[in-house]
Amino acid sequence: MTRVGVLGAAGRMGRTVCGAVADDGDLELVAAVDPSASGGSLEAVAGVATPAVTVAGGIEELERAGAEVAVDFTVAASALANARWCAEHGVHAVIGTSGLGADALVELAGCFEGSKANCVVAPNFAIGAVLMMRFAALAAPYMEAAEIVELHHDAKVDAPSGTAVRTAELMDEARRGAGASAWPPDPTTQATLAGTRGGTGAGGLRIHSVRLPGLMAHQEVVFGARGQSLTIRHDSFDRTSFMPGVLLAVKQVAERPGLTVGLEALLDL
Ligand code: NAD
Repeated sequence: MTRVGVLGAAGRMGRTVCGAVADDGDLELVAAVDPSASGGSLEAVAGVATPAVTVAGGIEELERAGAEVAVDFTVAASALANARWCAEHGVHAVIGTSGLGADALVELAGCFEGSKANCVVAPNFAIGAVLMMRFAALAAPYMEAAEIVELHHDAKVDAPSGTAVRTAELMDEARRGAGASAWPPDPTTQATLAGTRGGTGAGGLRIHSVRLPGLMAHQEVVFGARGQSLTIRHDSFDRTSFMPGVLLAVKQVAERPGLTVGLEALLDL
């Protein structure tokens, strides 16, 4: 049984991860950390009946409880500090927290390079979303232009989503790798409302972020070419959609030296 601790255990994702780990016969939930719910029972905080686990306020709880793997669904600033602690204390880290930019990934790679612990970071743990990214990369060299529209619930604090940023990177890499022409420049010469054309991702790909109550996590990659268009869309309707990917990473992280970025690496996609 692999001993698992959850960071951000009182959050929307953390609560779901606590339940998924507790229900998995190969894993044991030994620690739950969240300063916003310190001292609370896991049953009261996350609806998970694990009487031995009380929510702790600090990451040191992982060491006290003998956790071998930490799952982090917190906020970007906390996730980086948590990962440094995990690397120093030999605890494998599985990070789903979004908002970690290229600099943070370089820092993470450095932290885990000399550590006996490993790290898996994935902007999206939903297997359907990973396939959507793969399909978008496959299409990228063959269509003239593309834009990405990501849609999330109204409590998401960062924009654009890590999935959208990663999708643009994968699409741009695929296009360059195939020797196709660069993405066409934005034709807009007059934007009467600032921001209307979205943000600029890898290769100049436009990313648009929508935030609305009622949504969970959704993304469309819209390709255009003369006389045709192709739309690739993925929808996560429920946070359980992320759990098979999170559990896969928890079970594989010990076998993946250093830093692994993206669930696609674990799926051999
Ligand atoms: P949330 O706000 O509901 O939960 C975050 C929790 O982290 C809060 O309870 C907060 O108190 C806690 N926290 C903050 N700092 C902490 C620390 N140092 N130690 C322990 N706990 C700490 O957010 P959420 O909706 O659960 O999302 C969490 C993150 O996961 C976000 O960045 C979100 O974008 C990301 N996310 C990723 C995926 C994926 O597949 N990779 C899927 C969904 C959400």
